Amino acid sequence: MSLLEWPEWLPLRQELRGLSPYGAPQIDTPARLNTNENPYPPSPELIAAITRRVGEIAGTLNRYPDRDVLELRGELAEYLNERSGTDLSVAEIWAANGSNEIIQSIFLAFGGGKAVGFTPSYAMHPLISKVTGTPWVYGVRRDDFTIDVDLAIQQILNELPQLVFLTSPNNPTGTSINLQDIDALTLAAGSVGALMVIDEAYAEFSQGSSAVTLIDKHPNLIVTRTMSKAFAFAGARLGYMAAHRVVIDAIQIVRLPYHLSTLTQAVALVALQYKRELLDSVATLISDRERLITQLEALGALVVPSSANFLLFTVPSSHEIWESLLEQGVLIRDVGLPGYLRVTIGNEAENQKFLSALRNSLQQNPSPHNPSLGKPILDKPIGGNQ
Ligand code: PMP
Repeated sequence: MSLLEWPEWLPLRQELRGLSPYGAPQIDTPARLNTNENPYPPSPELIAAITRRVGEIAGTLNRYPDRDVLELRGELAEYLNERSGTDLSVAEIWAANGSNEIIQSIFLAFGGGKAVGFTPSYAMHPLISKVTGTPWVYGVRRDDFTIDVDLAIQQILNELPQLVFLTSPNNPTGTSINLQDIDALTLAAGSVGALMVIDEAYAEFSQGSSAVTLIDKHPNLIVTRTMSKAFAFAGARLGYMAAHRVVIDAIQIVRLPYHLSTLTQAVALVALQYKRELLDSVATLISDRERLITQLEALGALVVPSSANFLLFTVPSSHEIWESLLEQGVLIRDVGLPGYLRVTIGNEAENQKFLSALRNSLQQNPSPHNPSLGKPILDKPIGGNQ
Protein backbone atom coordinates (compact mmCIF):
# COMPACT_ATOMS: atom_id res chain seq x y z
CA MET A 1 0.00 0.00 0.00
CA SER A 2 1.23 3.47 -0.70
CA LEU A 3 0.86 6.86 0.88
CA LEU A 4 -2.67 7.76 -0.20
CA GLU A 5 -4.21 4.30 -0.04
CA TRP A 6 -4.43 3.91 3.74
CA PRO A 7 -8.10 3.90 4.74
CA GLU A 8 -9.48 6.81 6.74
CA TRP A 9 -10.47 4.64 9.70
CA LEU A 10 -6.93 3.34 10.28
CA PRO A 11 -5.25 5.30 13.09
CA LEU A 12 -1.79 4.88 11.57
CA ARG A 13 0.62 7.43 12.97
CA GLN A 14 0.83 10.45 10.68
CA GLU A 15 4.60 10.26 10.24
CA LEU A 16 4.39 6.63 9.06
CA ARG A 17 1.85 7.28 6.29
CA GLY A 18 4.45 8.17 3.68
CA LEU A 19 6.70 5.21 4.45
CA SER A 20 6.71 1.67 3.14
CA PRO A 21 8.21 -1.42 4.74
CA TYR A 22 11.75 -2.03 3.59
CA GLY A 23 12.92 -5.26 2.12
CA ALA A 24 14.76 -6.77 -0.79
CA PRO A 25 12.78 -9.20 -2.95
CA GLN A 26 13.05 -12.76 -1.63
CA ILE A 27 12.84 -14.62 -4.94
CA ASP A 28 14.01 -18.19 -5.26
CA THR A 29 16.54 -17.91 -8.09
CA PRO A 30 19.56 -20.11 -8.92
CA ALA A 31 21.89 -17.23 -7.90
CA ARG A 32 20.71 -15.08 -4.98
CA LEU A 33 23.20 -12.25 -4.75
CA ASN A 34 21.03 -9.39 -3.50
CA THR A 35 21.20 -9.31 0.31
CA ASN A 36 24.89 -9.64 1.14
CA GLU A 37 24.43 -13.02 2.75
CA ASN A 38 27.31 -15.43 3.11
CA PRO A 39 26.73 -18.17 0.47
CA TYR A 40 28.29 -20.97 2.55
CA PRO A 41 25.84 -22.96 4.69
CA PRO A 42 26.88 -24.36 8.11
CA SER A 43 29.13 -27.44 7.91
CA PRO A 44 27.76 -30.88 8.90
CA GLU A 45 29.82 -30.61 12.15
CA LEU A 46 28.29 -27.26 13.04
CA ILE A 47 24.79 -28.49 12.15
CA ALA A 48 25.34 -31.49 14.46
CA ALA A 49 26.63 -29.25 17.28
CA ILE A 50 23.66 -26.89 16.96
CA THR A 51 21.22 -29.80 16.87
CA ARG A 52 22.82 -31.33 19.98
CA ARG A 53 22.69 -28.05 21.87
CA VAL A 54 19.06 -27.38 20.91
CA GLY A 55 18.23 -30.90 22.15
CA GLU A 56 19.91 -30.14 25.49
CA ILE A 57 18.06 -26.90 26.11
CA ALA A 58 14.66 -27.82 24.66
CA GLY A 59 13.59 -29.05 28.10
CA THR A 60 14.12 -25.57 29.60
CA LEU A 61 11.88 -23.71 27.16
CA ASN A 62 9.12 -23.37 29.77
CA ARG A 63 11.40 -20.78 31.40
CA TYR A 64 12.33 -17.31 30.14
CA PRO A 65 15.85 -16.88 28.76
CA ASP A 66 18.70 -15.08 30.54
CA ARG A 67 17.40 -11.51 30.32
CA ASP A 68 20.89 -10.04 30.57
CA VAL A 69 22.43 -12.39 27.96
CA LEU A 70 25.55 -12.59 30.12
CA GLU A 71 27.33 -15.66 28.75
CA LEU A 72 26.87 -14.66 25.11
CA ARG A 73 27.93 -11.05 25.75
CA GLY A 74 31.06 -12.35 27.47
CA GLU A 75 31.92 -14.55 24.47
CA LEU A 76 31.27 -11.69 22.03
CA ALA A 77 33.62 -9.46 24.07
CA GLU A 78 36.21 -12.25 23.90
CA TYR A 79 35.80 -12.51 20.13
CA LEU A 80 36.30 -8.77 19.61
CA ASN A 81 39.28 -8.74 21.99
CA GLU A 82 40.95 -11.60 20.10
CA ARG A 83 40.52 -9.87 16.76
CA SER A 84 41.30 -6.29 17.77
CA GLY A 85 43.56 -6.58 20.82
CA THR A 86 41.03 -4.72 22.99
CA ASP A 87 40.12 -5.40 26.59
CA LEU A 88 36.35 -5.16 26.38
CA SER A 89 34.27 -6.79 29.11
CA VAL A 90 30.71 -8.03 29.21
CA ALA A 91 29.64 -4.62 30.59
CA GLU A 92 30.70 -3.00 27.30
CA ILE A 93 28.70 -5.30 25.01
CA TRP A 94 24.98 -5.56 24.23
CA ALA A 95 23.32 -8.13 21.96
CA ALA A 96 19.96 -8.31 20.16
CA ASN A 97 18.05 -9.93 17.29
CA GLY A 98 20.27 -8.71 14.46
CA SER A 99 22.08 -5.41 14.30
CA ASN A 100 18.87 -3.86 13.00
CA GLU A 101 17.39 -4.33 16.47
CA ILE A 102 20.57 -2.85 17.96
CA ILE A 103 20.15 0.20 15.69
CA GLN A 104 16.49 0.51 16.69
CA SER A 105 17.46 0.41 20.38
CA ILE A 106 20.04 3.15 19.78
CA PHE A 107 17.32 5.38 18.32
CA LEU A 108 14.85 4.51 21.07
CA ALA A 109 17.37 5.37 23.77
CA PHE A 110 19.25 8.29 22.25
CA GLY A 111 17.07 9.68 19.42
CA GLY A 112 14.51 12.45 19.49
CA GLY A 113 16.82 15.21 18.26
CA LYS A 114 18.37 14.96 14.79
CA ALA A 115 20.41 12.09 13.37
CA VAL A 116 22.91 12.57 10.53
CA GLY A 117 24.22 9.97 8.08
CA PHE A 118 26.20 10.25 4.85
CA THR A 119 24.37 9.24 1.67
CA PRO A 120 24.44 6.78 -0.02
CA SER A 121 24.54 4.41 2.92
CA TYR A 122 22.50 1.75 4.68
CA ALA A 123 18.88 2.68 4.03
CA MET A 124 17.63 1.22 7.30
CA HIS A 125 19.37 3.99 9.30
CA PRO A 126 17.02 6.72 8.01
CA LEU A 127 14.02 4.38 8.03
CA ILE A 128 14.48 3.33 11.67
CA SER A 129 15.21 6.97 12.52
CA LYS A 130 11.90 8.14 11.06
CA VAL A 131 9.90 5.24 12.48
CA THR A 132 11.20 6.01 15.98
CA GLY A 133 10.49 9.76 15.68
CA THR A 134 13.99 11.13 15.01
CA PRO A 135 14.38 13.59 12.11
CA TRP A 136 17.03 12.29 9.71
CA VAL A 137 19.49 14.58 7.94
CA TYR A 138 20.99 13.31 4.66
CA GLY A 139 24.66 14.32 4.84
CA VAL A 140 26.83 14.07 1.72
CA ARG A 141 29.83 12.13 0.47
CA ARG A 142 32.27 12.92 -2.31
CA ASP A 143 31.32 11.88 -5.85
CA ASP A 144 33.52 8.79 -5.45
CA PHE A 145 31.50 7.86 -2.33
CA THR A 146 34.35 8.48 0.13
CA ILE A 147 33.81 10.73 3.15
CA ASP A 148 35.18 14.27 3.01
CA VAL A 149 36.07 14.54 6.70
CA ASP A 150 36.17 18.35 6.86
CA LEU A 151 32.81 18.61 5.15
CA ALA A 152 31.35 15.87 7.36
CA ILE A 153 32.55 17.70 10.49
CA GLN A 154 30.99 20.88 9.15
CA GLN A 155 27.70 19.07 8.64
CA ILE A 156 27.81 17.77 12.22
CA LEU A 157 28.58 21.23 13.62
CA ASN A 158 25.81 22.83 11.52
CA GLU A 159 23.10 20.28 12.26
CA LEU A 160 23.81 19.70 15.99
CA PRO A 161 22.55 16.10 15.91
CA GLN A 162 22.23 13.67 18.81
CA LEU A 163 23.35 10.75 16.68
CA VAL A 164 25.81 10.49 13.79
CA PHE A 165 25.91 7.31 11.66
CA LEU A 166 28.86 6.09 9.62
CA THR A 167 28.91 2.68 7.96
CA SER A 168 32.35 1.22 7.39
CA PRO A 169 32.71 -0.71 5.15
CA ASN A 170 29.75 1.16 3.73
CA ASN A 171 26.67 -0.47 2.23
CA PRO A 172 26.00 -0.17 -0.75
CA THR A 173 29.38 1.25 -1.86
CA GLY A 174 31.86 -1.07 -0.06
CA THR A 175 34.10 1.90 0.76
CA SER A 176 35.79 2.21 4.17
CA ILE A 177 36.85 5.06 6.37
CA ASN A 178 40.13 4.93 8.30
CA LEU A 179 40.53 5.10 12.08
CA GLN A 180 42.16 8.52 12.05
CA ASP A 181 39.10 9.98 10.30
CA ILE A 182 36.73 8.13 12.63
CA ASP A 183 38.68 9.58 15.54
CA ALA A 184 38.28 13.15 14.21
CA LEU A 185 34.58 12.67 13.43
CA THR A 186 33.89 11.15 16.85
CA LEU A 187 35.56 14.13 18.51
CA ALA A 188 33.42 16.49 16.44
CA ALA A 189 30.27 14.54 17.37
CA GLY A 190 31.30 14.66 21.04
CA SER A 191 31.80 18.42 20.85
CA VAL A 192 28.08 18.86 20.09
CA GLY A 193 26.97 16.19 22.56
CA ALA A 194 26.28 13.52 19.91
CA LEU A 195 26.95 9.80 19.94
CA MET A 196 28.91 8.50 16.94
CA VAL A 197 27.65 5.13 15.68
CA ILE A 198 29.99 3.14 13.45
CA ASP A 199 28.06 0.37 11.69
CA GLU A 200 30.63 -2.39 11.13
CA ALA A 201 28.31 -5.08 9.76
CA TYR A 202 31.02 -6.00 7.20
CA ALA A 203 34.12 -5.42 9.36
CA GLU A 204 35.56 -8.93 8.98
CA PHE A 205 35.85 -8.48 5.20
CA SER A 206 38.10 -5.45 5.64
CA GLN A 207 41.86 -5.34 6.30
CA GLY A 208 41.42 -2.11 8.28
CA SER A 209 41.32 -1.92 12.11
CA SER A 210 37.99 -1.91 13.87
CA ALA A 211 36.67 1.22 15.58
CA VAL A 212 36.27 -0.90 18.74
CA THR A 213 39.92 0.02 19.39
CA LEU A 214 38.78 3.65 19.94
CA ILE A 215 36.07 2.93 22.53
CA ASP A 216 38.48 3.43 25.46
CA LYS A 217 39.28 6.87 24.15
CA HIS A 218 35.75 8.00 23.21
CA PRO A 219 32.84 7.39 25.61
CA ASN A 220 30.48 8.70 22.87
CA LEU A 221 31.44 5.95 20.37
CA ILE A 222 29.19 2.97 19.56
CA VAL A 223 30.31 0.17 17.23
CA THR A 224 27.59 -2.15 15.88
CA ARG A 225 28.41 -5.63 14.53
CA THR A 226 26.52 -8.68 13.32
CA MET A 227 26.88 -12.44 12.96
CA SER A 228 24.78 -12.27 9.75
CA LYS A 229 27.66 -11.77 7.29
CA ALA A 230 31.12 -13.09 8.14
CA PHE A 231 29.68 -15.73 10.51
CA ALA A 232 27.20 -16.91 7.86
CA PHE A 233 24.49 -16.81 10.52
CA ALA A 234 21.87 -14.43 9.10
CA GLY A 235 19.00 -16.80 9.83
CA ALA A 236 19.80 -16.93 13.54
CA ARG A 237 19.46 -13.12 13.94
CA LEU A 238 22.29 -12.04 16.19
CA GLY A 239 23.66 -8.51 16.23
CA TYR A 240 25.65 -6.75 18.95
CA MET A 241 27.28 -3.50 19.90
CA ALA A 242 30.34 -2.41 21.84
CA ALA A 243 30.47 0.90 23.71
CA HIS A 244 31.29 2.57 27.01
CA ARG A 245 29.53 0.79 29.90
CA VAL A 246 27.28 3.80 30.59
CA VAL A 247 25.96 3.60 27.01
CA ILE A 248 25.34 -0.14 27.47
CA ASP A 249 23.55 0.47 30.79
CA ALA A 250 21.34 3.11 29.15
CA ILE A 251 20.42 0.98 26.13
CA GLN A 252 18.98 -1.65 28.47
CA ILE A 253 16.20 0.76 29.46
CA VAL A 254 14.64 0.28 26.01
CA ARG A 255 15.17 -3.46 25.60
CA LEU A 256 12.10 -5.65 25.78
CA PRO A 257 12.26 -8.15 28.62
CA TYR A 258 13.72 -11.49 27.48
CA HIS A 259 14.22 -10.11 23.95
CA LEU A 260 16.82 -12.71 22.95
CA SER A 261 15.40 -16.24 23.02
CA THR A 262 17.10 -19.15 24.76
CA LEU A 263 17.47 -20.77 21.34
CA THR A 264 19.15 -17.72 19.79
CA GLN A 265 21.56 -17.33 22.70
CA ALA A 266 22.46 -21.01 22.64
CA VAL A 267 23.04 -21.37 18.90
CA ALA A 268 25.05 -18.14 18.76
CA LEU A 269 27.32 -19.54 21.48
CA VAL A 270 27.81 -22.71 19.44
CA ALA A 271 28.62 -20.65 16.31
CA LEU A 272 31.22 -18.69 18.27
CA GLN A 273 32.89 -21.98 19.21
CA TYR A 274 33.18 -22.67 15.47
CA LYS A 275 34.46 -19.19 14.64
CA ARG A 276 37.71 -20.37 13.08
CA GLU A 277 35.88 -22.58 10.60
CA LEU A 278 33.19 -19.98 9.91
CA LEU A 279 35.66 -17.18 9.36
CA ASP A 280 37.57 -19.36 6.87
CA SER A 281 34.87 -18.46 4.37
CA VAL A 282 35.82 -14.79 4.76
CA ALA A 283 39.24 -15.35 3.18
CA THR A 284 37.63 -17.22 0.27
CA LEU A 285 35.07 -14.45 -0.23
CA ILE A 286 37.79 -11.78 -0.17
CA SER A 287 39.85 -13.50 -2.86
CA ASP A 288 36.70 -14.16 -4.92
CA ARG A 289 35.83 -10.47 -4.54
CA GLU A 290 39.19 -9.46 -5.98
CA ARG A 291 38.80 -11.87 -8.91
CA LEU A 292 35.28 -10.61 -9.61
CA ILE A 293 36.57 -7.01 -9.70
CA THR A 294 38.98 -7.93 -12.50
CA GLN A 295 36.27 -9.85 -14.36
CA LEU A 296 33.80 -6.97 -14.11
CA GLU A 297 36.41 -4.51 -15.28
CA ALA A 298 37.10 -6.77 -18.25
CA LEU A 299 33.42 -6.33 -19.15
CA GLY A 300 33.91 -2.55 -19.12
CA ALA A 301 32.40 -1.77 -15.72
CA LEU A 302 33.83 0.67 -13.21
CA VAL A 303 33.94 -1.02 -9.80
CA VAL A 304 33.94 0.99 -6.58
CA PRO A 305 36.83 -0.17 -4.30
CA SER A 306 35.27 -2.55 -1.78
CA SER A 307 36.31 -3.96 1.58
CA ALA A 308 33.00 -5.79 2.03
CA ASN A 309 31.41 -8.96 0.61
CA PHE A 310 29.77 -7.10 -2.28
CA LEU A 311 30.65 -4.83 -5.18
CA LEU A 312 28.99 -1.71 -6.56
CA PHE A 313 29.64 -1.40 -10.29
CA THR A 314 28.51 0.72 -13.24
CA VAL A 315 26.04 -0.46 -15.88
CA PRO A 316 24.47 1.30 -18.87
CA SER A 317 21.04 1.19 -17.28
CA SER A 318 20.36 -0.10 -13.77
CA HIS A 319 16.80 -1.25 -14.18
CA GLU A 320 17.09 -2.91 -17.60
CA ILE A 321 20.22 -4.81 -16.63
CA TRP A 322 18.75 -5.81 -13.26
CA GLU A 323 15.64 -7.20 -14.98
CA SER A 324 17.61 -8.96 -17.67
CA LEU A 325 19.78 -10.65 -15.02
CA LEU A 326 16.68 -11.76 -13.12
CA GLU A 327 15.24 -13.28 -16.29
CA GLN A 328 18.42 -15.36 -16.43
CA GLY A 329 18.02 -16.52 -12.82
CA VAL A 330 20.44 -14.07 -11.21
CA LEU A 331 19.07 -11.80 -8.50
CA ILE A 332 21.25 -8.82 -7.61
CA ARG A 333 20.43 -5.41 -6.15
CA ASP A 334 19.26 -2.17 -7.69
CA VAL A 335 20.06 0.19 -4.80
CA GLY A 336 18.47 3.25 -6.40
CA LEU A 337 21.73 4.77 -7.67
CA PRO A 338 21.23 5.45 -11.39
CA GLY A 339 23.92 3.72 -13.46
CA TYR A 340 24.97 1.31 -10.69
CA LEU A 341 24.07 -2.15 -9.43
CA ARG A 342 25.32 -4.05 -6.38
CA VAL A 343 26.24 -7.72 -6.40
CA THR A 344 26.98 -9.88 -3.36
CA ILE A 345 29.98 -12.21 -3.66
CA GLY A 346 28.46 -15.67 -3.93
CA ASN A 347 29.92 -19.14 -4.25
CA GLU A 348 31.94 -20.07 -7.33
CA ALA A 349 28.91 -21.30 -9.32
CA GLU A 350 26.85 -18.21 -8.49
CA ASN A 351 29.66 -15.83 -9.41
CA GLN A 352 30.13 -17.58 -12.76
CA LYS A 353 26.41 -17.56 -13.43
CA PHE A 354 26.30 -13.84 -12.62
CA LEU A 355 29.20 -13.04 -14.94
CA SER A 356 27.88 -14.94 -17.90
CA ALA A 357 24.37 -13.50 -17.40
CA LEU A 358 25.85 -10.00 -17.19
CA ARG A 359 27.83 -10.58 -20.40
CA ASN A 360 24.55 -11.53 -22.14
CA SER A 361 22.71 -8.54 -20.70
CA LEU A 362 25.41 -6.13 -21.80
CA GLN A 363 25.35 -7.54 -25.33
CA GLN A 364 21.60 -6.88 -25.46
CA ASN A 365 22.09 -3.40 -23.99
CA PRO A 366 25.38 -2.18 -25.41
CA SER A 367 25.21 1.56 -24.60
CA PRO A 368 28.40 2.91 -23.03
CA HIS A 369 29.00 2.65 -19.31
CA ASN A 370 28.49 5.68 -17.18
CA PRO A 371 32.01 7.13 -17.46
CA SER A 372 32.09 8.89 -14.10
CA LEU A 373 31.17 7.71 -10.63
CA GLY A 374 27.70 9.19 -10.23
CA LYS A 375 26.81 12.03 -7.95
CA PRO A 376 24.60 10.66 -5.19
CA ILE A 377 21.04 11.96 -4.97
CA LEU A 378 21.02 13.72 -1.64
CA ASP A 379 17.44 14.31 -0.66
CA LYS A 380 16.09 10.84 -0.90
CA PRO A 381 16.78 7.65 0.96
CA ILE A 382 19.00 5.64 -1.33
CA GLY A 383 21.28 2.90 -0.27
CA GLY A 384 21.49 -0.80 0.39
CA ASN A 385 18.80 -1.98 2.71
CA GLN A 386 20.03 -5.54 3.22
N1 PMP B 1 24.12 -2.74 8.90
C1 PMP B 1 24.40 -2.85 7.60
C2 PMP B 1 25.35 -1.87 7.00
C3 PMP B 1 23.80 -3.85 6.83
O1 PMP B 1 24.08 -3.93 5.52
C4 PMP B 1 22.90 -4.74 7.45
C5 PMP B 1 22.18 -5.82 6.69
N2 PMP B 1 22.56 -6.11 5.49
C6 PMP B 1 22.66 -4.59 8.81
C7 PMP B 1 23.27 -3.58 9.49
C8 PMP B 1 21.67 -5.46 9.53
O2 PMP B 1 22.07 -6.77 9.63
P1 PMP B 1 21.45 -7.78 10.67
O3 PMP B 1 20.18 -7.18 11.23
O4 PMP B 1 21.22 -9.02 9.91
O5 PMP B 1 22.47 -7.91 11.75
